[in-house]
This record gives sequence, C-alpha cells and structure tokens, in this order.
Amino acid sequence: KPVTTSMKTLTQEIEKFAQDKKIEIDTLKIREEYRKDFLGNVSHELKTPLFTVQGYILTLLDGAMNDKKIREKYLTRANKGVERLIYIVKDLDLITKLEVGDLKLEREDFDIIELIQNVFDLLEMKAAQKEITLTFDMEYTQPIFVNADKEKIQQVVSNLLVNSIKYGHPNGTTEVSVENLIKNKVIIRVTDNGEGIPKQHIPRLFERFYRVDQSGSRAEGGSGLGLSIVKHIIEAHDEKIYVESEVEVGSEFSFTLEKTLKSSE
Ligand code: ADP
Repeated sequence: KPVTTSMKTLTQEIEKFAQDKKIEIDTLKIREEYRKDFLGNVSHELKTPLFTVQGYILTLLDGAMNDKKIREKYLTRANKGVERLIYIVKDLDLITKLEVGDLKLEREDFDIIELIQNVFDLLEMKAAQKEITLTFDMEYTQPIFVNADKEKIQQVVSNLLVNSIKYGHPNGTTEVSVENLIKNKVIIRVTDNGEGIPKQHIPRLFERFYRVDQSGSRAEGGSGLGLSIVKHIIEAHDEKIYVESEVEVGSEFSFTLEKTLKSSE
C-alpha cells in the first residue's frame, strides 16, 4: 500500500513539474515573440533616418562637397537626421527600462504649476515656429504640490505638449489646466484644437510604435514611443491617463496626480 501511495505522489510531482515547465516555456515563447516584434520595430524606426543621413553623405562625396552653400545645407540636414536618431535611441532606452520594470520612481514633493511653466519655457520656440500659442490658466497664483517623480512627470507634460504642437494646426492653441479632483487628486489637462484622432485609432494610441499615420512620410515623425512612455510613467505612479478626441476639432489628454499636504497649507 505505501508503494502505491508513493507512486501516486511521484506521478503528481511529475505532472506538476511538467506543468511548471510548460508555463515556463510558454512565458519564454511570449518573451521571444515580444523580443522579435520589438527588434523588428526598432530596426524599422532606425532605417529611415539612417538612410536619409547616408543619402546626404553620399551626395556630398559625389561632388556636392565642393560648393560651400550646398555643403552647409547638406551637413545641416545630415545633422538633423542624427539628432532624430539620438532622440529615438533615448526613447528606446527609456521604454525598455519602463517595460521591464527596471526604472525606480524617485518621488518628491514639488509644485506642478512651476513644472508646467518650465516646460512651457522650454517649448516656446518650437510652438512659435508653428505659430501655435501655448496657454496656461494664469489664475494659479498658489503653488499646487504633488508627490511624484518630478523628472518623469516633466517628460509626460513635455511629450503631451510636443504632440499638441506636432499635430496642431498653425495658428492653433494648446491649453493646459490643473484642476482639483476629489480625494487629494489633481487632474492635468492638455487640450489642443489640432487635427484630432479618428475614433478607431484611440484604443491603440498608447501602444509602442503605434501611429495614426503609419506611412512614416510626415515631416513631424517622432519615435512613435511618446504616448507609450507617458502611459507607463503614469501607471507606474498608480495614476490614470485619459484621452478624448474628435477629428478636426482637437484632442484632450489628461492625467491624475496625488496632491500632498503642502498644497492645502
Ligand atoms: P509620435 O512619435 O508618432 O508622435 P506618440 O506615441 O507620441 O508617437 O503618438 C502616437 C500617435 O498618436 C501619433 O503618431 C499621432 O498619430 C497621434 N497623436 C498623439 N497626440 C496627438 C494629438 N495631440 N493630436 C492628434 N494626434 C495625436
């Protein structure tokens, strides 16, 4: 009888071992798929700017180098291409860290109003180039303190504002507001009156490399990672991000943050 029992236990153990191994293999397969998919996307994203830069260099080598004006023009364009590559690689680095959960939040109390003002100052030129006005409700005479990772929230605000400029119409406006919500929360809204987003694209907007215009032909090409970076950062804070949009009316991206006691002092 004891032999039967131990046989039974052994069979159960073997079955459990096999089941565990199966789960392990399935997980590895999913990871492998993810890795392949990611690498495929990465090489695709890098190819366009790399070929552009190579194009300018080849033209220069082909004789364009002898003309000072053309030389300067092509070198400037090649440099723009390299700048874009650097920007993409930085975003790739960040998204990789965010997706493997390798990035620790460094929380501190800071004034969200001041942070938004700083991002405005940084993006003023970019907005002006496209004749877009950035407005911030100037009623905020009091600071509003939140507890969050300041650098990463700055990246969130910056990504949303950059998008509103990229997809905004000339002479358009982007408005930022901060509103109190219940339960010690604030909501930050970034609203533009730009091109808007067709309904069917909205559910996939936060996926990495997802773009409404997939052709890659537009002048304003980013890395396609901006919104997925935003979503990861907000979710790492256990907060929420929302989007509302209508074609040719505009878009509103908003996210919540936790206020600290300092705000009510
Ligand atoms: P990208 O580098 O392409 O801007 P994002 O992840 O930041 O990548 O955005 C994904 C896509 O969402 C964009 O390609 C664009 O189609 C759409 N999008 C983002 N923000 C806006 C906006 N404010 N107005 C219209 N479309 C937007």
